[in-house]
Amino acid sequence: MNLVLVVNAGSSSLKYQLLNMDDESVLAKGNCDRIGIDGHVSHKVPSRDYVFEQDCPFPTHTEAFEKLVEVLTTGDGKVIDSMSEISAVGHRIVQGAEVFDKACLVTEEVIDKIDALSELAPVHNHPHALALRACTKVLPKGTPQVVVFDTAFHQTMPPKAYMFGLPYEDYKELHVRKYGFHGTSHRFVSQSLAEAMGKDVKDLKIVSCHLGNGSSITAVDGGKSVDTSMGFTPLDGIIMGTRSGAVDPSAVTYVMEKHGFTPHEMSQYMNKKSGFLGLSKISSDNRDIQNACLEGNELAILTSDMLQYQIKKYIGSYAAAMNGIDAVLFTGGIGENSWEVREAVCENMEYFGIKIDKELNRSIRGKLRKISTPDARVEVWVVPTNEELLIARDTLAVIGK
Ligand code: ADP
Repeated sequence: MNLVLVVNAGSSSLKYQLLNMDDESVLAKGNCDRIGIDGHVSHKVPSRDYVFEQDCPFPTHTEAFEKLVEVLTTGDGKVIDSMSEISAVGHRIVQGAEVFDKACLVTEEVIDKIDALSELAPVHNHPHALALRACTKVLPKGTPQVVVFDTAFHQTMPPKAYMFGLPYEDYKELHVRKYGFHGTSHRFVSQSLAEAMGKDVKDLKIVSCHLGNGSSITAVDGGKSVDTSMGFTPLDGIIMGTRSGAVDPSAVTYVMEKHGFTPHEMSQYMNKKSGFLGLSKISSDNRDIQNACLEGNELAILTSDMLQYQIKKYIGSYAAAMNGIDAVLFTGGIGENSWEVREAVCENMEYFGIKIDKELNRSIRGKLRKISTPDARVEVWVVPTNEELLIARDTLAVIGK
């Protein structure tokens, strides 16, 4: 068996999936959570409907990795005899900046470079580096590890798309520019869509709408990202669960002054207390917003209207950027499941050649499916994302398997 362990480590959690790449099935998955707080492991073996939950101390990522090895190799949730059966480990890394434009093998130098990018992504990159070091300690010596970057797919954007109108030295010296995120997902779904359409991705202009707790929209021209809605950080673009999305920078400094916020407090305000949650006062969860809309809640309706309007505007602007579009795809928790959002976004878009079969759209949840009408000029699809699978495929490609 060709086994790849995919790891998505945050500051307090370590999500994992063990994939059998012979048939791309998931052998086990779970999360070592609450690292540095107390500690909890949740381990699942899908083929046996097996679920294991346990509180256990995780002072650092090392103890979490040790637990991960334990649950994979011992007890009722065991799926392998030893970690030496694993061909490689693939790590999801949020920020690769201009240093990494593709997945690569982990070395001490690579870990140091990822850590050095922490200034650009303080919430993510330092924990990634801690996890990489912990994983290296726990794995059998010589197990290859690969890092796959959220930003790498967007490194093909031209300067006119990624530069901000700030003084040039802020780009040269501080590395302030648009990086874009969700790259692994946008790459995966645009490839899947091309296959489903029976076309080469090189011949397609796609607007990829990844809508989840975090959302981003990408213009994919010929398989390459040419523009994307998230920016220097994942805060930019459309409104999200708790993130504001784009706001006039002057409104940011004004709100900071009025509330007496420090830069860190303002960042927390826009990242954690804004978006659906801050606007609706109900929830950061799209399901709660859609339910409240049905009850006539005005703030929920406003929130939902803003989301749909902003997505529409990105589709329109990317049609302009690419001189047309062949397909629009929806993915992520909202994109795959919320027919309401898809229907509203595609409403009154005939000018762009977008027209969906409403009844069909309402019946599609989490399935690869075309939802546009046969006479529509632009195809509209629901395409489930699977970032772990693409990370595992990239990992094998990097180690030459
Ligand atoms: P993340 O960005 O954290 O990976 P997900 O992609 O899982 O998030 O998306 C979470 C979002 O998807 C939530 O807003 C949730 O309400 C929404 N969602 C999930 N299932 C449904 C559903 N059946 N109908 C509408 N929205 C849904």
